[in-house]
Amino acid sequence: MSAQWIENEPAPLAKPRELKIERETHKLEKRLCREVGRAIVDYNMIEEGDKVMVCLSGGKDSYGLLDILLKMKARAPIHFELIAVNLDQKQPGFPAHVLPEYLTQLGVPFHIENQDTYSIVKDKIPEGKTMCSLCSRLRRGILYRVADELGATKLALGHHRDDMLQTFFLNMFFGGKLKGMPPKLVSDDGRHVVIRPLAYVAEKDLIRWAEHRQFPIIPCTLCGSQENLQRKQVAAMLREWEKKHPGRTENMFSALQNIVPSHLMDGTRHDFKGLKATGVASEDGDKAFDPEEFAPAALLGLQVIKI
Ligand code: SF4
Repeated sequence: MSAQWIENEPAPLAKPRELKIERETHKLEKRLCREVGRAIVDYNMIEEGDKVMVCLSGGKDSYGLLDILLKMKARAPIHFELIAVNLDQKQPGFPAHVLPEYLTQLGVPFHIENQDTYSIVKDKIPEGKTMCSLCSRLRRGILYRVADELGATKLALGHHRDDMLQTFFLNMFFGGKLKGMPPKLVSDDGRHVVIRPLAYVAEKDLIRWAEHRQFPIIPCTLCGSQENLQRKQVAAMLREWEKKHPGRTENMFSALQNIVPSHLMDGTRHDFKGLKATGVASEDGDKAFDPEEFAPAALLGLQVIKI
């Protein structure tokens, strides 16, 4: 069953002589479907009979999420429902007609929740301070309530691979924690399962897809809040690394799925205190760094520099 999520890719476009750009777009669509399918299978995100509430902000990522999930639904080996939900937070200038028009045209079941969190946040947060933390908490609470009311079994969010990496570094740099943004989690109240089907998708692919599909993007600056400066800096750092060392993003992302607690320092994840020699070689044992790389230097009596 699981293989079908991935292998049932979109049929090739019918036109015999496509322009290069059309071929590229077709490849992009295949890649998006493949990566979303892979994430769904790897983390068992969607199951038979699920009602998935797709949280739609009007940004490129959530439009892309809904778009790809609709394609996946059409070819999935299981039956599940999708319902798009937008929270209209009553920000000044929010074009309230855009999403209902788009979703009606698409023929997708949807719900618009009207809640003036903008006024609450404005009232509580002093001028000039960032409002995002309170705003997000309010939004999350409302979305969980709406999920209950709609009978949704899963909440799908549009975070992608680059969001997840940025969060990992933000937590490390500013929170002193090795903690990322999980592809699937149970909400704080223990009652909701939140999924991130774009977990394997690169942001640049979502940007290209949004351009191709000409989503009616709603700008995210309507609230007037400052963009999160730390996140912007981390995003710039990651882009710079990728530019200088192509493939680094992919490696770092793989590392998030390949953790060795015995080679970190968290005593709650590994019993360092109780560690005893067993006399038995272990596959997970300490082989230092790459043995091929360092062995010749050691044999020659050269000093091995730790990096
Ligand atoms: S940018 Fe505005 S709408 Fe978005 S979380 Fe921050 S305060 Fe809320």
